[in-house]
Amino acid sequence: MQQRATYKTAKAPRLSVYGCHFMHHPARTLPSVRTQIALIFGSLTATLAITLSFIAGELLTWRLEQQAGAALSTVAQNAAMLLSKELLQQSHRAQVLARSKELWDEGLDSPSVGKMLDRIQHINPHNVWIGVADEQGVVRNATGNMLTGVNVSTRPWFRQGMVEPFISEVHPAKLLADLLPRSSTGEPLRLVDFSAPIHRPDGSIAGVLGIHGSWDWVRDIVEGLLSSTGRTLQQSIFIFDRKGELIYAPDGVMAPYTSLGQSLPVSQALHQREALITAAPIVWKDRPQAYLTTAARLPDFHADLGWWVVARQPVETAYADAKHILWWALAAGLMVGLLSALLARSLARSVSDDLSNLAVAASRISAGNTQQEIPLSGNNREVRQLSASLSQMTQQLLDANAAMHSQVQLRTQELHTANQELKLANQTLQRLASTDPLTGLLNRRGFEAQASLVQDLALRSGRPLSVISMDIDFFKRINDRYGHDAGDGVLQQLALVLTQRTRKTDLVARFGGEEFVILLPDTEASAAQHLASDLLSAIEKMSFTHVGSLTLSAGVSSLHSHGNDDLAAMIRRSDEALYEAKHNGRNCVVYAS
Ligand code: GH3
Ligand code: MG
Ligand code: MG
Repeated sequence: MQQRATYKTAKAPRLSVYGCHFMHHPARTLPSVRTQIALIFGSLTATLAITLSFIAGELLTWRLEQQAGAALSTVAQNAAMLLSKELLQQSHRAQVLARSKELWDEGLDSPSVGKMLDRIQHINPHNVWIGVADEQGVVRNATGNMLTGVNVSTRPWFRQGMVEPFISEVHPAKLLADLLPRSSTGEPLRLVDFSAPIHRPDGSIAGVLGIHGSWDWVRDIVEGLLSSTGRTLQQSIFIFDRKGELIYAPDGVMAPYTSLGQSLPVSQALHQREALITAAPIVWKDRPQAYLTTAARLPDFHADLGWWVVARQPVETAYADAKHILWWALAAGLMVGLLSALLARSLARSVSDDLSNLAVAASRISAGNTQQEIPLSGNNREVRQLSASLSQMTQQLLDANAAMHSQVQLRTQELHTANQELKLANQTLQRLASTDPLTGLLNRRGFEAQASLVQDLALRSGRPLSVISMDIDFFKRINDRYGHDAGDGVLQQLALVLTQRTRKTDLVARFGGEEFVILLPDTEASAAQHLASDLLSAIEKMSFTHVGSLTLSAGVSSLHSHGNDDLAAMIRRSDEALYEAKHNGRNCVVYAS
């Protein structure tokens, strides 16, 4: 029974020894070790990669957002700087013009002054009106002779211009509104006034030179500043005055914003003197989404106008790169996770292959394939241990199974033998119960069992049935004279003679003591009487061992074919006949009808 590796246990039943069903139903719905390793490793690395990518992405996003803000601030600052310079230049132009020699040489209202003003306007068409007013505020000369003779003494440009060089707030055209065309945007004409005092050579003030610049002029400056890139990025520039009121909107179109009551969105700027408000997302009135907004204060080179140049850009455009970066970072993280899961899956092959080989082998053994070997290889210690233990365990189970199988066979054989012996003993017992041990003839019990069958047959077939009852005469004397053993010998010899002289179908029985009964099927009464007589005379002539001759008496009877006759009654009648034979002197046959 000691095999190695290959199990040759003959006819070994399924391996379910001691109720131990191993590997019975491989759970197909569960994932394999390989998949599990890949899933665990993959999700771990994916989580890690995504987290790292997310952090890196957030940092990058933050930087990109800072950069977007800085770029927008630069736009605002540049615009503020440029605007301030242009204002200053324009103011200088007014001052230089106010010192022109023609003004006091020729007189304020001289034609040469008028020509000079026209010339200056021609150089800069945005100057919609250039004129000179005397110290009373009456316009003495002007481009296109507009407003000549009109008193402008209440106008701020005149009043301020009498004192020092002046730049006005942006304001709608008043006196000139009807004389000049509307703004190119279709909106009412808006003007910025530049004025400077006209000094006489003695230093006294002769009047004021005023330039009304069209506000459209600022549009050229601002929109020229925004490069095509800036437009693609949807950057736009607004200007608010010191009170926070809108004085310029992109392309000079202000109506959409003024109708919404849009004021300086970075209202904190009004209360501080800082030059720059850092970019931050702010919701404007014209759109629900926030704009990245920054504000630069106009540098006060000459006059402190307190204007704010505000640059804005839709947040989604400003931060578009940042958002892209974040998505790319996340996608990269996911890819890394996926790749590492695939890598883990292929690396896990060595472990999972060992286990699945083991599982397949164990399943086959479980299914009854005793030729299957448990693979004893493995790429790691645990799998090797497991396969060795499994192999050993399988061998032990198979051995135990085989041992039990042969035990069962042995016990079955023993049981079979015992059954046979019991059957024989029963037969012997049966025989002993129905035969007489001394003569081997049927005893009364055995006789009655068989005789009842014979009687039934005779009664049914209507064939004759007879019986002879016999008894040795004066047997007591034989015993007394020759001893009990000699008497036994006589009984045995007599039994032999009776058996030999009757048919096989006849039943010869010893009814106890020295009395014998012979049942004769198919025998008429007369034939029975003859047989009895023959037996008696044959025995009389015999010489028994030690004893010599002896005689018998016999009673004969037959089954009546009518009435309720039966075996017992027939035997009773033959017994009575025997008794009568004794009474009649023995050694004779009496028939009882
Ligand atoms: P009868 O002619 O009237 O039959 O006289 P008998 O002596 O034969 O009859 P009795 O009934 O007086 O005696 C029968 C004797 O048979 C008595 C008994 O000792 C003897 N006997 C009975 N069974 C056996 C036996 O198995 N062996 C021997 N040796 N003797 C037996
Ligand atoms: Mg007797
Ligand atoms: Mg007798």
